[in-house]
Amino acid sequence: MTEINQNEAARLERRRERFERKMSHTTIKYLRELEDLGRGNTPEAMKPFFDVLKSVYFDMEPVRAEGRPCIGTYCAMVPLELIYAAGAVPVKLCSGNYTSFLIGDDIVPRDACPLVKAVAGFQEMKNLPIYNDCRMMVVPITCDCKKKISQILSRDADVFVMQIPVNREDDEAIDSCVIEYNKLLDKLEQITGANVSCADISHAIALVGNAQYEMSRFLEFKTGTRSLIRGSHVMAMMNAASYMPIDIWTEKLHLLNDELRERQKNGLYITKENQPRIMLTGSPVIFPNIKLPLLIEQMGGSLAADETCMGERFLYDPVIPTEKTFDGLLKAIANRYVRACTCPVFSENRQRVDRILHMIKEHKIQGVIYHVLRGCLVYDYEYAVIEKELKEADIPVIRVENDYNEEDIEHLRIRVEAFIELIKETEYE
Ligand code: SF4
Ligand code: SF4
Repeated sequence: MTEINQNEAARLERRRERFERKMSHTTIKYLRELEDLGRGNTPEAMKPFFDVLKSVYFDMEPVRAEGRPCIGTYCAMVPLELIYAAGAVPVKLCSGNYTSFLIGDDIVPRDACPLVKAVAGFQEMKNLPIYNDCRMMVVPITCDCKKKISQILSRDADVFVMQIPVNREDDEAIDSCVIEYNKLLDKLEQITGANVSCADISHAIALVGNAQYEMSRFLEFKTGTRSLIRGSHVMAMMNAASYMPIDIWTEKLHLLNDELRERQKNGLYITKENQPRIMLTGSPVIFPNIKLPLLIEQMGGSLAADETCMGERFLYDPVIPTEKTFDGLLKAIANRYVRACTCPVFSENRQRVDRILHMIKEHKIQGVIYHVLRGCLVYDYEYAVIEKELKEADIPVIRVENDYNEEDIEHLRIRVEAFIELIKETEYE
């Protein structure tokens, strides 16, 4: 090795060490804030979810896939069922990491959203096993940021670019999804050597269905006026699903549900009757960028529900097959992942408004915080529609913009605190 090469290698090594130190620091800081929020009253069964976040971002461990290949995914619209049916394990790689965001900031355009900047940062550093271990990455083209990040990722990884129909109302939209799913299955079969059958897909639908069943049990606990679990902890639990095989995650959620049932019987609520019940909706909230849910609860609000793809939305609707043929199963999957999806990337999105209004009723929400990641135009476009609908329903709403750093935290704190005070004044005084 020449002297110049040696110097360069030493420089890169120092950069990598700095990166890992900073990433570990942020991980521990936010895990500690989650712990402090529980004030010793966090359900025991939450521990495995916090442990997974720590193992991925602090201990830098791989996903425990038990010998199965990992497939990276970059959106809640990638059907988990197809990946499990082919004998692989999906790992959701959308990122909320502040340290990799800083690296990605120099790689992608300034106005790109922080999520793709953070993804580009990990791609550059190549030091996180959850990224390095993926045999293929699936990137649905849902917005310009995703389109361009797929190009960047494909420099180092095998990337499957998945087309998503913009208008999903007609049958052609579902047919086009079935074509994409068949292409994806071909790629997955090449990786795993499987020959995916109807039975494999049905089995995978049932596997994910178990998680959705536990999720529906869990959501039942969240419909009262007092909470048994912190909303920030719920977001951590949903984030942990990105890095756990779904059967393991379901098992852990089953235990949490049992513990919550006991707590409910014993009246062990963690919020008071007069704590403002807030719903969070908008751009994805990805660990460790959980400052907004934390602020809501640190400022005295109760984060009673979230309508985000890294939160409750991820496992909301089950796949309902009506035909047991191969095409019939794929159509049922497309209906769940595309037609029922409330992400604002589609040209028409009345169902998002309806879902939000339904959740407000179900969770007795008193105010909505609309989260926009800087540069996330699709969510920003929909704010006006949601604001108008909520005004008509007499529900206060604020738009809060957020980036992947801690510089905006005081500004966010002031806005969140003022919003909570407003609800208290209107509802309780
Ligand atoms: S916000 Fe929409 S497009 Fe982005 S990851 Fe979530 S579901 Fe996918
Ligand atoms: S939907 Fe928003 S947050 Fe997701 S990649 Fe596109 S711009 Fe970024």
